[in-house]
Amino acid sequence: MNSNFFQTSIEYLKGVGPNRADLLKKELGIFTFQDLANLFPNRYLDRTQFYKISQLERTNAEVQIIGKIIQIKTVSQKNRKRLIAKFEDDSGIMELVWFKGHKWIKENLKLNISYVIFGKTNWFNGTYSMPHPEMETLKNYEKSLRPAMQPVYPSTELLSSRGISNRVLYNLMENLYSESQNYIVETLPKNILETFKLLSKKEALRNIHFPQNQHLLSRAQYRLKFEEFFYIQLQLIRKNLLHKAKIKGYPFSEIGDNFNLFYKNYLPFKLTNAQKRVIKEIRFDLGSFAQMNRLLQGDVGSGKTIVALMSALIAIDNGFQACLMAPTEILSVQHYNGLVELCKYLNISIYILTGSTKTSDRKKIHEKLENGEINLLIGTHALLEDKVKFRNLGLAIIDEQHRFGVAQRSKLWHKNTLPPHILVMTATPIPRTLAMSIYGDLDISIIDELPPGRKEIKTVHRFDANRLRVFKFIRDEISKGRQVYIVYPLIQESEALDYKDLMDGFESISREFHKPTYQISIVHGKMKAKDKEFEMNRFLKGETQIMVATTVIEVGVNVPNASVMIIESAERFGLSQLHQLRGRVGRGADQSYCVLMTSHKLSENAKTRIKTMVKTSDGFEIAEVDLKLRGPGDLMGTQQSGVLNLRIADIVKDHDILNIARNAAIDILKSDPSLSLSENLPVKMTYIQLAKYKNIWNFIS
Ligand code: ADP
Ligand code: MG
Repeated sequence: MNSNFFQTSIEYLKGVGPNRADLLKKELGIFTFQDLANLFPNRYLDRTQFYKISQLERTNAEVQIIGKIIQIKTVSQKNRKRLIAKFEDDSGIMELVWFKGHKWIKENLKLNISYVIFGKTNWFNGTYSMPHPEMETLKNYEKSLRPAMQPVYPSTELLSSRGISNRVLYNLMENLYSESQNYIVETLPKNILETFKLLSKKEALRNIHFPQNQHLLSRAQYRLKFEEFFYIQLQLIRKNLLHKAKIKGYPFSEIGDNFNLFYKNYLPFKLTNAQKRVIKEIRFDLGSFAQMNRLLQGDVGSGKTIVALMSALIAIDNGFQACLMAPTEILSVQHYNGLVELCKYLNISIYILTGSTKTSDRKKIHEKLENGEINLLIGTHALLEDKVKFRNLGLAIIDEQHRFGVAQRSKLWHKNTLPPHILVMTATPIPRTLAMSIYGDLDISIIDELPPGRKEIKTVHRFDANRLRVFKFIRDEISKGRQVYIVYPLIQESEALDYKDLMDGFESISREFHKPTYQISIVHGKMKAKDKEFEMNRFLKGETQIMVATTVIEVGVNVPNASVMIIESAERFGLSQLHQLRGRVGRGADQSYCVLMTSHKLSENAKTRIKTMVKTSDGFEIAEVDLKLRGPGDLMGTQQSGVLNLRIADIVKDHDILNIARNAAIDILKSDPSLSLSENLPVKMTYIQLAKYKNIWNFIS
């Protein structure tokens, strides 16, 4: 619809005028004809069917019935008056009820003539009743042109109180529709319409607002969802391709000594196929002239670290530096220790820089970085400080990316003439297409295989009342030489309360497991980094058997001998958090356990979360459930606006359409990258217009 017609101000539509125009702008953001055309109904009332009173079910659904009023009376109860009409058809009797507007209704209702009533029914005291039915005489009903599927448009209280009812919106839509016929332009190319059997734009708009039947309505919805996804994906993919063509990166053409030596002699285990595949993908990217921007997804324990190391070795072999950034001090230290150990026979220098690095050491590190003596720098946010200057940073690896914002990520860009290659690692798996839609500018690698020999973590749900048995279980496991995590929730809004929970918990654990038989560590967010690390280390070395903690241990910490994870108030954790926490155990050779403790009061949502955890340990499966429960809105903290701001499609429910539309967009860009073929003219025109508008629906419909 790239004609001026649809850009006409809504004020000029028949039936609108300046006052209504003002309301429509304020309440629904409708400024132009186009905005109105794109006001898609929330739902439809199905008036294709008639019910008999005897067929009614206690489902509270909307139904339509033909019958007669045989009696009207006013009933008073506790100062409240109701108007009740007995309504009869040839199968039974029900009641129509009004709580408001009695007088007017009473005067206008006629006994013993046929009415069509429509509304929701309630079942009460052995009869069905319909409060405030929509009704008209059968005679009028038969005369009216109302379609069988009635759209229900989004509305607001103000709109309805100012007389812009659903009926009015519907009439406006009719006016618009009858005037717009000649101006509707097809926005998808013919071959796509044919291949995917899509309705034309005209047909789709007609049937989204005035559906002739359920079937055409579904097809109209499908076409509009397809179109919405198609153009979002087209933009994302094009952006990615342009990025690759435009943003140059250092080509690491050489696979050198360190990499080869490590690969041949010092790999501590056989790589999984998934790890090999991902390393290949990264090697390919690093060897090309474009800057790599890759997201590496892999479940907790899938072995991302070794991939990070081998990528870093490629950079180092090509004469560049690499850095690995982690969200917490503890995790940085662990990475540092682990990588130093792995690289002990290689000739590379690895340093660590965090908030608690001493000033004197810090100065040395700054120097060595600038003169290139450091090959690999590991650390926290401290790496992003202005004073930290690399001589030639070639690869930046970011672990657990959801903790870093996009802005922070791009800070690393400004250290060089060319941007370093970027590898972002996350253990929060999200379905691939979804990830691609959200991080349109990133390529994606997935490790979808755990190293061999892992035992399934046994997960159980226990109520608080069973605490004593859980304590006994803990004691038994400790006596076998195992270590135990006990985790308490930490939710920002009620930090004080959470802290109290944690301390109460700690006390009762201390009473139950006393010295000298048992030693307990405690780690929480209010402690100084130094103290946290001290406690963490005691646990790591096995000096303590129990680690009481808030979720600070969530990310990445590796204590193979810890095989029991007790999660207190598990109902207060989100699914991905529970999954991350559980991933802290199951890292050694022993059978591991996860116990989810909850109260008896559980919301439906919480029940689903707990059940899911007990049932599966597949991160992608858990992510899907999580997505369904929470919706895509919360996803990943840093949201890329627009991508998830969909008008008609639902990124979760319409996942299949997303896949199809995405592939269609890829195909078209493959065969016609500049969209210059005449058959793709609709796409090109739409695409050009899209670039001008923020919200695609400002244009594409
Ligand atoms: P994550 O993906 O959670 O960062 P890590 O890289 O920490 O996982 O790996 C988890 C554990 O699995 C580590 O102890 C690591 O040494 C081990 N590991 C990784 N890859 C393999 C493999 N291919 N075979 C056996 N063990 C592996
Ligand atoms: Mg990790």
